[in-house]
Amino acid sequence: MSTNGSVFDRAKGLFLHYAKPLKLDERHPGTKILERLTTPDKIMAFRLSLQMDDGSVQVFPAYRVQFNDDLGPYKGGLRFHPQVTLEEVKALAFWMYLKTAVVNIPFGGGKGGITVDYKSLSTAEKERLTKKFAIVLANDIGENTDIPAPDVNTGPQEMAWMSHAWRMSTGQYNRAMITGKPLDLGGSLGRTEATGHGCAITMLEAARDAGIDPNGATMVIQGFGNAGRYAAIEMGHQGTKTIVASDSRAAVHNPDGLDVQALIEHKDKTGSVANFPGGKTMDPNGVLTAECDFLVPAALEDCITAEIAPKIQAKIIGEAANGPTTQDAIHILYERGITVIPDVLANSGGVTVSYFEWVQNRQEYYWTREEVIDRMRARLVNAYREIADRAKAEDTSLRQAAYENAIERVVRAALERGAQ
Ligand code: GLU
Repeated sequence: MSTNGSVFDRAKGLFLHYAKPLKLDERHPGTKILERLTTPDKIMAFRLSLQMDDGSVQVFPAYRVQFNDDLGPYKGGLRFHPQVTLEEVKALAFWMYLKTAVVNIPFGGGKGGITVDYKSLSTAEKERLTKKFAIVLANDIGENTDIPAPDVNTGPQEMAWMSHAWRMSTGQYNRAMITGKPLDLGGSLGRTEATGHGCAITMLEAARDAGIDPNGATMVIQGFGNAGRYAAIEMGHQGTKTIVASDSRAAVHNPDGLDVQALIEHKDKTGSVANFPGGKTMDPNGVLTAECDFLVPAALEDCITAEIAPKIQAKIIGEAANGPTTQDAIHILYERGITVIPDVLANSGGVTVSYFEWVQNRQEYYWTREEVIDRMRARLVNAYREIADRAKAEDTSLRQAAYENAIERVVRAALERGAQ
């Protein structure tokens, strides 16, 4: 059952399911390769105490998991959210190394997080907490070891604080130790938009394969945060209407298409899509099953369950979130013939532009937005094509093909490095 065990146990189960046709134990006997690929290299779990503005103290659990570095230094975001657990961070770190392998960039995978209601903190409390996190991790992160980035509830401001705290702890000015920074501090043009933009690029490729014209098509966004809003903007450039958008508090719909720019402004001002004057409020439970061509789950894990999957009406699903679909639901959607662009491909635009930011930082030579976007598009289209061709040849899902491509790349590198 896909709902048994922790989110990490389920991620591991899914990996082993997709690795099966590769017969790794048979082809590489005695190497323990499957165990190596499903066990994190290093887990750091620690306590962060924070002095609040009123002088009281609060304590928060924090984590960094370095899962696998066979293809390059650990890479992956930082999530500051009340639902963060070690098991979740392990699953997210696991998916990161698969994702970097899917798009063929020279990184491994890691992830970090703090279990905290981050949005409820003041700006000064946020800065102190983020800087403390960087100081505790100072010896374990760096340009050639482990490079953090944004994830849920973190963005350029948190990356700026992290990089400054790291600079003060180590005495070194090093921009490439973290990505997703503000432009003034060595960030890359196009990085903030990259996850949603990349999701749109992969959905447009899938639409072409499925013979769906994006112009006039409809889209539903579950989770109108960073990834969701930029997916809506990019698909809007192709004529696709976003008819439903939701967040953790509310859902709005407009069958003629929501004014995405106005909705972004409303959300930035009020903190939610709730009470948006350009749409009608709807039951958030109906968002994933609303009638549409494109569905973008862009919130947290395990939203599309076996109960919801039979009722989904979308033709193409672009997983902007990490792990939004349970294993049972994955099989149901495949049986129903719905095209699902798996998270490890659909949301890989973010880490792809993180890679470009790291490259630019190492050269201290900066690219134009056009150069960044063109290079991202080339990588994602190439990864999509490789995966779609393999899926077609093997008569299987995009996710199976993506995992096979990724696992083969990592296995080759792991075996070349040796076990010692
Ligand atoms: N947190 C993002 C992800 O899940 C980006 C990671 C990165 O840029 O390193 O892919």
